[in-house]
Amino acid sequence: MGSEDDMHDCNDLEEFYSSSDNDVENDSDNDYVYDNDSDDASPKLVSIRQQKNYIVLKEEDIRRRQEDDIVRISAVLSIPRVAACMLLRQYKWSVNNVHEAWFSDEDGVRKAVGLVEEQAVKSQNDRELICEICFEPYPVDKINSAACGHPYCGTCWAAYISTSINDGPGCLTLRCPDPSCNAAVSQDMINTLVSSEDREKYYRYLRRSYIEDNRKTKWCPAPGCDCAIEFDVGSGSHDVSCLCSYSFCWNCTEEAHRPVDCETVSKWILKNTAESENMNWILANSKPCPKCKRPIEKNQGCMHMTCTPPCKFEFCWLCLGVWAEHGERTGGFYACNRYEAAKQEGAYDESEKRREMAKNSLERYTHYYERWATNQSSRQKAVADLHQMQTVHLEKLSEKHKVPESQLKFVVEAWSQIVECRRVLKWTYAYGFYLPEDELAKRQFFEYLQGEAEANLERLHQCAEKELQNYLGDGTSEDFNSFRTKLAGLTSVTRNYFENLVRALENGLSDVNSTGASSMKPSSKFVAGSSNAKSGKNSSSKI
Ligand SMILES: [Zn+2]
Ligand SMILES: [Zn+2]
Ligand SMILES: [Zn+2]
Ligand SMILES: [Zn+2]
Ligand SMILES: [Zn+2]
Ligand SMILES: [Zn+2]
Repeated sequence: MGSEDDMHDCNDLEEFYSSSDNDVENDSDNDYVYDNDSDDASPKLVSIRQQKNYIVLKEEDIRRRQEDDIVRISAVLSIPRVAACMLLRQYKWSVNNVHEAWFSDEDGVRKAVGLVEEQAVKSQNDRELICEICFEPYPVDKINSAACGHPYCGTCWAAYISTSINDGPGCLTLRCPDPSCNAAVSQDMINTLVSSEDREKYYRYLRRSYIEDNRKTKWCPAPGCDCAIEFDVGSGSHDVSCLCSYSFCWNCTEEAHRPVDCETVSKWILKNTAESENMNWILANSKPCPKCKRPIEKNQGCMHMTCTPPCKFEFCWLCLGVWAEHGERTGGFYACNRYEAAKQEGAYDESEKRREMAKNSLERYTHYYERWATNQSSRQKAVADLHQMQTVHLEKLSEKHKVPESQLKFVVEAWSQIVECRRVLKWTYAYGFYLPEDELAKRQFFEYLQGEAEANLERLHQCAEKELQNYLGDGTSEDFNSFRTKLAGLTSVTRNYFENLVRALENGLSDVNSTGASSMKPSSKFVAGSSNAKSGKNSSSKI
């Protein structure tokens, strides 16, 4: 029985995707001529199009859907809408489950929800009734009752309901104050008997229940965001991206961590918490230049550092190695990502051995943690840069190079790609940490794929970060065209490398035996020519 699939899903899904492109990408212009391939839209858009296994619900969507469901149940079962609302809540807002339960055992369902038959209010004389809480006599029209007919005065009802509302979401299943009575207190009574403040609270709980009790929906965890995500449970990747631009894992609600699984992520986060005191120094943003020893501050996103004159030494922020050895330029293999375990040779006595092992284990963790954390901060910087680009720099570029902003999408796409890749790269370091050391072939394959992806991302990030600066200053339009070609090229090449990496990790590196690492060599022309910029400045040195 596929009882979880509520009836509106398919249609709404289509409707959502055909109507919401503008929400996702406000500046969608049709005259964007440089990239009219449909699969070349911004990464966020691409990922939504590829997966289609979730829908972002804005506040008004949530209201509308909840109302639609209530109206539908009310019509199909021929019951008042307040009763329909109680039923839906009882069955976790699954229209199908309400149907099934109702038509197989209506009496049972009525009992469970507290929908009792309407009773006439019993009164000794026609004009007065005693409130069963305060025992004061009241005229009949000042007495209220649930369907059961137990009489209470307005003041006692208001206090009773208000207490329950202020106690929490339990107010949604409030019953008659009579201890032996099961009759539900309906929304109609809430509407007429309590203050507008309490009423508002009640309806907030009702809306929250619609998202929180439904196993297909969750709130976006970003602070201040009122959107929810409806997820197609049982379908592929768990990563979802909200309209507020926050990406998270629908399964564990940590930030998005594809291609790493939830279990690894939670282990890693726990480990980081335990080690946080030891690791704080890693996040310091200054290191001594490996050549002249002056402190160099990292204030940009990419890892290519250049010491200030006269030293001008170019090095890698992460491994402090010579930058030129990081690319294909030396014919070498990108190795900044690889952890080389210290050789444990020679004669150690037991305590030396133990000390050595402890040191190695900390070094190993430090290696992965630093790369994880640095990619995280690099991503945050990129998010800020992307924002700056969209709000300030695009307009400047457009004016300066006489290009309509609609043709500058390649810049935004480059930055969106950087943001996404920094996220993926970051998580691959948690993956690497937990990849068993004795699975040598897998390790090598993993490090190869990760290294290639990382090297390309560094090129892309450097181009978007530093070379672009030249075009915000002086630079002819002809130059600008070649810059466009280069940046767009790097963007698409980098995307391919990361797609490969993600796919390989999600397959548990199972291709390691069939595809040798050598057959994964890059095939694009963009890779070779663009590895190092002439004027890479990532640093200011402080003396
Ligand atoms: Zn009373
Ligand atoms: Zn009652
Ligand atoms: Zn959000
Ligand atoms: Zn997760
Ligand atoms: Zn230096
Ligand atoms: Zn390095």
